[in-house]
Amino acid sequence: MRILVTNDDGILAPGILAMRRAVADLGDVTVVAPVAPQSAVGHSITLTDPIRVHRVPLGDGAVGHGVQGRPADCVKLALLELMPERPDLVVSGVNLGANTGINVLYSGTVAAAVEGAFFGVPSVAVSIEDSDAADFEGAARIARRIIDQFLARGPREPILLNINVPDLAKGPPKGVRVCPQSMKGWREGWEKRSDPRGRTYYWMIGNMEPEEVGVESDVASLAGRYVTVTPLRFDLTDHARMSEVRGWNLSL
Ligand code: MN
Repeated sequence: MRILVTNDDGILAPGILAMRRAVADLGDVTVVAPVAPQSAVGHSITLTDPIRVHRVPLGDGAVGHGVQGRPADCVKLALLELMPERPDLVVSGVNLGANTGINVLYSGTVAAAVEGAFFGVPSVAVSIEDSDAADFEGAARIARRIIDQFLARGPREPILLNINVPDLAKGPPKGVRVCPQSMKGWREGWEKRSDPRGRTYYWMIGNMEPEEVGVESDVASLAGRYVTVTPLRFDLTDHARMSEVRGWNLSL
């Protein structure tokens, strides 16, 4: 089995090394990831600049491909150029910081997995809650257990899974929950400052909004110390509204 491991925190981030190790015995693992951190770049791609690829030692003897581009570029390039054959699985992570709620839409980690799914390859995004000493190895092992259970189901549909792991320093997770993506996001604010030349600049600040009581979402379940698994799709059509909008009888 061939596996592509990628991320958005950059090829030298500890999370990608943990993820590569956690799936290494499943088959041939190829690491293709951005040379520079690319968190929150979403599904952007590089259209007007050249993309260079460097061989990057990963610190455990393995060598990866460091790409001067976005996470989605990495997956496109891996599947169409760098890997001799198309992978059977794409794993993106382990990302430092949860990708739950509407943050899923900003995430380069998730975008890389979505890109894999565009090509019909089963793809998984893996993230762990932000903390000073995130247990990437622990999160990668948990992700591997979920991947094993998915692979054991036989014929591999091009499924797209978003996995989030709570901070493991607070103890083992209470379990795993399959739950929908929350509509909660960053409760944003801006810090307005002056630079040394007296010019104004802004810095985004804020915290993740808590989920409403009684809603079983990825945000709520992760806060409740569960590993969350959310199947995603990238058809953004609001199917429930199609007939309503058709009923407007739009004309030119
Ligand atoms: Mn990231």
